[in-house]
Amino acid sequence: MTQTPLDPTPTSRSGLRGWLLAAVAVAALVAFFALLPTPKADRPAADAAATDLPSDTFAVVGVRLFDGERVLPRCDVLVRDGRVAAVAEHLEIPSGVPTVDGAGRTLLPGLLDAHVHTWGDSLADALRFGVTTVFDMFTDPQYAAEVRRRQAADGNPGAADLFTAGLLATVAGGHGTQFPIRVPTVDPGVDADAWVAARLAEGSDYVKIILEDGSSLGHPIPTLSAARVAELAAAAHRHGVLAVAHVGSAAEARLAMEAGVDGLVHLFLDADPGVGTTGSVAHSIADAGAFVVPTLTVLESLAGGHGGAELADDPRLAAALSREQSGQLRRTFGLPPQPGLSLDNALDTTRRLATLGVPILAGSDAPNPGTAFGASLHRELELLVTAGLTPVEALTAATSAPADAFGLDDRGRVAPGLRADLLLVAGDPTTDVTATRDRVAVWKLGRPAPLQASEPDAAPGAAAPAVEAGLVSDFDDGLSARRGAGWQVSTDRRMHGESTAEIAAVDGHLQVTGEIAAGFPFPWAGAIYFPGDAPMQPVDLSALGGVAFRARGAGGPFRLMLLGAAQGGMPATASFAAGDDWRRVVVPLADLPADLDQVGAVLFSGGPGLGPFRLEIDDVELLASDADGGQR
Ligand SMILES: [Zn+2]
Repeated sequence: MTQTPLDPTPTSRSGLRGWLLAAVAVAALVAFFALLPTPKADRPAADAAATDLPSDTFAVVGVRLFDGERVLPRCDVLVRDGRVAAVAEHLEIPSGVPTVDGAGRTLLPGLLDAHVHTWGDSLADALRFGVTTVFDMFTDPQYAAEVRRRQAADGNPGAADLFTAGLLATVAGGHGTQFPIRVPTVDPGVDADAWVAARLAEGSDYVKIILEDGSSLGHPIPTLSAARVAELAAAAHRHGVLAVAHVGSAAEARLAMEAGVDGLVHLFLDADPGVGTTGSVAHSIADAGAFVVPTLTVLESLAGGHGGAELADDPRLAAALSREQSGQLRRTFGLPPQPGLSLDNALDTTRRLATLGVPILAGSDAPNPGTAFGASLHRELELLVTAGLTPVEALTAATSAPADAFGLDDRGRVAPGLRADLLLVAGDPTTDVTATRDRVAVWKLGRPAPLQASEPDAAPGAAAPAVEAGLVSDFDDGLSARRGAGWQVSTDRRMHGESTAEIAAVDGHLQVTGEIAAGFPFPWAGAIYFPGDAPMQPVDLSALGGVAFRARGAGGPFRLMLLGAAQGGMPATASFAAGDDWRRVVVPLADLPADLDQVGAVLFSGGPGLGPFRLEIDDVELLASDADGGQR
């Protein structure tokens, strides 16, 4: 079997590797910010925008209906107590039941995104865009369990429903372990059945298995053997759940099929070496009866496309995008073109799979660079049509197909008895699939959802105050700061992590002692500084040049992280060393991929390595952009 050669330059290798890890990194950050105080309580009520839509019991009349499979040109749909009660060309609407005019509009099932990594506010973000259910492919089980409790209690009306793989199956040193994430690896001697049972006990709905040998990365990384993948898939099946696989290449897709997995949660950018023959990967997938989540959106971004930025510029979506989402969509992987790898290959494979009758599921892999929760599913629909699916086939991929593939019989269609998870749009997405972006209403269990972000990207007056360069703290007067809300200790303990830290002003400097422990998937412990007037209140650092401080310590390296003001923002991280002797450290802000005009905190943390550490810092200052930043 031929392998597509790859550009072996270190830059492209590390870049590609970075992509493959991005989803893991994001998953590892789940709920990172839940621990931090935020000004979120001051936000306007999230559902304020939705109050003019009827709730629970209502009818949509005279509407074009895509019911999850077919298009019905004119329908009345009656919703009672959050469930679809009746669907017919003409219904006698009981008096007193509020109606919504469907003329010129299309009603669809709420959309299902079959590949995401959930964290922070992402489920609420998804709902604004009509995504009422997501299938998560790696997140923190504790976070997922908390969401599931809310789902069970009251339907979690302000957020999409979550189903999750929880932690993923990989080997020591394999994809998914490059961060100090507590992933129980499936190493020699580990019983596959016991591993699967442990995931299900944590709340996993299905099992995700990593097949990633690095051959398409230009350098090998350890991965599960085909035999192990088969053991895990068989164990999942014994426990009555699905086994899905991450693959990075056509060859790995074939291995996954031979091992008996039920679905692939990515396609690949290399060409199917057997294209045009019955030996193609597409045929082996079809023969296995598996489903495929192509995730064309993230592959497009990986291949250097700018579909995310196009999405951010679409006026139909702009008001629904939070600032942070808009930033994510405009982010890129920054990779050079890779010989032999292209989105065209993935589009071609998608078309072949569809032709062979393989169930195609729409999935975005949000929030990887160039993607955002909810919004990116609309790009995925467009790319599925680009690949050759009809608009109706693409809409099926985001509704009934994922419901069927994951065995959910209460959603994915508009039919009597099912959940009233509904999306009402202007126009006709069954002929122009981008019309799904023109949202008129989103209901989850019959309850209307907001269509606009509470902090929309375009919100006027959202600018944060600028902070001037100068000394922050010299710790000669304890832990005081000359500006901002000052210093606090910050650890992962409230996320049930086990890292510890103590901070104190000692001999005119800040001393942090602690231990990074593998309790929480993204362990941290250290000292956090809030530059705004209140903790996490955003400030604008974009005119500044860097953060400088003196440091010494043991047990490093250490991390400086800029935390975005928006909850759920990705911390931009710089690593720094500190040894026995004091040295001056300068972290140029230009090196940090952060929204510098919305910084909520600066965290000085131990790690990412596990173990005890001592970090002492002094003379923390914000540098002007023209400061030399050199030694002094
Ligand atoms: Zn993913």
